[in-house]
Amino acid sequence: MPTSPVDTYDILQDSILSRPRMMGSEGEKETTAFLLAFLKQHKLDAYTEDIQWSTALVEGRKYLYLLMALFVILLNLCLRLPPPWNSIFLILLAAASFAAVILITKGLTNDKFKFLGKDFNAKNVLCDIQPTGKKKDPGIVYFTAHSDSISSNHPKLHMPVLMSMLLSYMLTVLLTITIGILHWISSSAGHASLAPAIHILTLIVLILSCLVLIGVVFTRFTRNVNSGPGAVDNGSGSAILLSLAAYFKDHPLPHTRLKFIWCAAEEWGLYGSKGYVRAHKEEISAQRDQSCVINVDMVGSELAYLEKYGFLFKKPLNKKLNALIAQTAKEAGIEARPFNSIMGNNSDHAPFQKEKVEVCFFLANKDSKVIHSPQDTIEKAKPEKLADAVELIKRLVVKLDEDWLNKFRVSE
Ligand SMILES: [Zn+2]
Repeated sequence: MPTSPVDTYDILQDSILSRPRMMGSEGEKETTAFLLAFLKQHKLDAYTEDIQWSTALVEGRKYLYLLMALFVILLNLCLRLPPPWNSIFLILLAAASFAAVILITKGLTNDKFKFLGKDFNAKNVLCDIQPTGKKKDPGIVYFTAHSDSISSNHPKLHMPVLMSMLLSYMLTVLLTITIGILHWISSSAGHASLAPAIHILTLIVLILSCLVLIGVVFTRFTRNVNSGPGAVDNGSGSAILLSLAAYFKDHPLPHTRLKFIWCAAEEWGLYGSKGYVRAHKEEISAQRDQSCVINVDMVGSELAYLEKYGFLFKKPLNKKLNALIAQTAKEAGIEARPFNSIMGNNSDHAPFQKEKVEVCFFLANKDSKVIHSPQDTIEKAKPEKLADAVELIKRLVVKLDEDWLNKFRVSE
């Protein structure tokens, strides 16, 4: 007997998914219990897998910011010294500071500084829906959504201050290199006319450096707290996955295995999805040509998906999935907005993408301003957008099921 259809907004509104559930809080346990109970109620074989998460990334970033503060102070000092300190040495120091920040950031995201934080155990919640056909080699769609929420103790200031600090740091480094070159030209060729330009740039660097230092001091006073309901980020995605699982339980596909993963500890550094990919690495890489990931991290006032990402040069997130999303949305008359962003690897699809699996990423980019704060409430999630997301993804998955060979099983 098929179970009655479920309303995604009702799931969100009536459950822990629209209330605070930071990792380590009571809400974390309640979320795991709720997900399991919902799936069991819909006759799905739900299970959990243990993962480890850590505060190392969050703590490590604070040390990184301290290092950045040290670098800007050193750069400002060198600017005021005689040659070669204010030219060749300055350029080398600026380049080294930039490289150090990039390398340490990479190390932090790859868990190379685990000693900086505390480890905790947690659980991903999962369920599988098998294909009806007997094909030996079915396609796989992984659905991911993080179930944890988080908030900053300074939600309004947190993002603007952090962004201004990082931007100021980058500009400080770039301008310092420029000044180093100007110093070098003026000392070797005797261009006294460069002095006013150097003077102005040095002043700008000083102002930018102050912004960096203010940002670094601010980060010393920021903490993660359990005051954000996280209805949009990412109660919405979690509820959408529950809806989809309940639907596909009654409408399994002929050629595709569906795997639903509610990831824990995304907000602390994608620990749930990284843990899953680490534990199933062989299976994931063996089947990468006939699998894909649909990551839903926020549907709120809009339904949107990441098209291209990158800082200076934007690259597409995937080879074919986004084109399929656009086509499906058009056919269904559903509004789904593609957008570009600097960030592309800040959610649970990223560990799969590292294994070269085709991924797509639904994110209500316009709602980014309310997340990680007490403002991320159920009122920010629009019922019709949640319903649109479920409908669009249903149709997308049916399309994928029709012909895997022509989708991703290509040697490009
Ligand atoms: Zn999120």
